[in-house]
Amino acid sequence: MSAGASIAIVGGGIIGLSTAWRLAQRGFAVTVFEQSTMGGEASWAGAGMLAPGGEMDEASELTTLAIESRRLYPAYVRELVASSGLSIDFQEMGAVDLAYSAEEMSTLEDRAARQAGIGIESKAVDPKRVAVFWPRVRTEGLVGGRFYPGDGLVNPREVVVALCAVCKKLGVRLVQNCGVRSVADSGGSVKLVTAHGTETARCVMIAAGAWSGSIVVSPVGIPASAPVKGHLVGYQQPSQTCNTIVRHGHTYLMQRNSGLLIVGASVEHVGFDRRVDAGVASQLSEAAGFVMPHLLETTPTEMWVGFRPGSDGLHLGRWESGNVYLAYGHYRNGILLAPVTADRVAAEISLDVGVR
Ligand SMILES: Cc1cc2nc3c(=O)[nH]c(=O)nc-3n(C[C@H](O)[C@H](O)[C@H](O)COP(=O)(O)OP(=O)(O)OC[C@H]3O[C@@H](n4cnc5c(N)ncnc54)[C@H](O)[C@@H]3O)c2cc1C
Repeated sequence: MSAGASIAIVGGGIIGLSTAWRLAQRGFAVTVFEQSTMGGEASWAGAGMLAPGGEMDEASELTTLAIESRRLYPAYVRELVASSGLSIDFQEMGAVDLAYSAEEMSTLEDRAARQAGIGIESKAVDPKRVAVFWPRVRTEGLVGGRFYPGDGLVNPREVVVALCAVCKKLGVRLVQNCGVRSVADSGGSVKLVTAHGTETARCVMIAAGAWSGSIVVSPVGIPASAPVKGHLVGYQQPSQTCNTIVRHGHTYLMQRNSGLLIVGASVEHVGFDRRVDAGVASQLSEAAGFVMPHLLETTPTEMWVGFRPGSDGLHLGRWESGNVYLAYGHYRNGILLAPVTADRVAAEISLDVGVR
């Protein structure tokens, strides 16, 4: 265990664990409190697209962070793999957006023009090329598409397993089944009331995803958060069935190295409802079958749900009361944003608290 200042992290998802790793590397004594299982919520459910091209189309702080985090990803994965000795499915293969009407095509072109202005590159693809490079894709009625070479994917479940391993190696205390109910900042330190008693630390970072806002923080309360439920559907398929991310409207298809072809995702404001709704899953299957007709004849092998951490924006860094830091509100891009979040918050805590 490090002799550095003690930092408590509430929430053991990709955000909490990535930041714990970076803080431990800087010499802090870090404890992660997780109310359930490390990485068992949104960071388990997330598809794992690393896709500024699919997600960002205007200049903003979030876009800057997304582009920066995408740039950091290869080194983040390389370092995790080297330090943990575990493998991580990380594919830098790009994404194609498809248009099946003139209107869809003009939406794609307008967006690409805006993206070019913020440094997101894409190029036009004609239907003949789609037929050659994406042989499973429906070409009937296809008007064209745009290819985004910078988009990629990672398997977030493997990232979280590797993060737990590297955190343990550096002496991070990973405390599972131990929810934090409240945090009180008394100036020089913070007191946490957990399911198993009281703990103190020099400072605390709240990274509890969709649950963050329900933690009672004093003297200054923190911004609200809310779950945005998403269903995903998976098909076990031969490799190269989907050789890049394929998108059409709000539907995306992507294939992990394991062969699991994932189709996403619904966007539902229904609270923490963990039920898998067969109706919602079948809408996803229909949308997938439109893009890849052979899937109409194929039965999904998996369906699951997760809760994106919604809030009124991304909360990143020192909160109004001095020893509380926030890292939540990543919504649909928390897997993508993990490296930059961890680097930024760890650097800010180091600067404020003074360990290296
Ligand atoms: C269907 C779906 C598809 C997605 N696809 C993508 C994608 O393609 N690309 C992408 O970048 N992002 C995607 N996301 C979003 C991404 O998964 C999230 O933004 C990211 O996982 C958030 O990570 P987190 O660590 O903040 O939250 P979580 O992984 O939810 O972790 C928060 C943790 O805090 C714990 N916790 C809560 N309350 C407490 C408490 N009081 N005390 C202790 N622990 C607590 C929880 O149990 C949980 O484990 C998707 C999400 C969903 C649901």
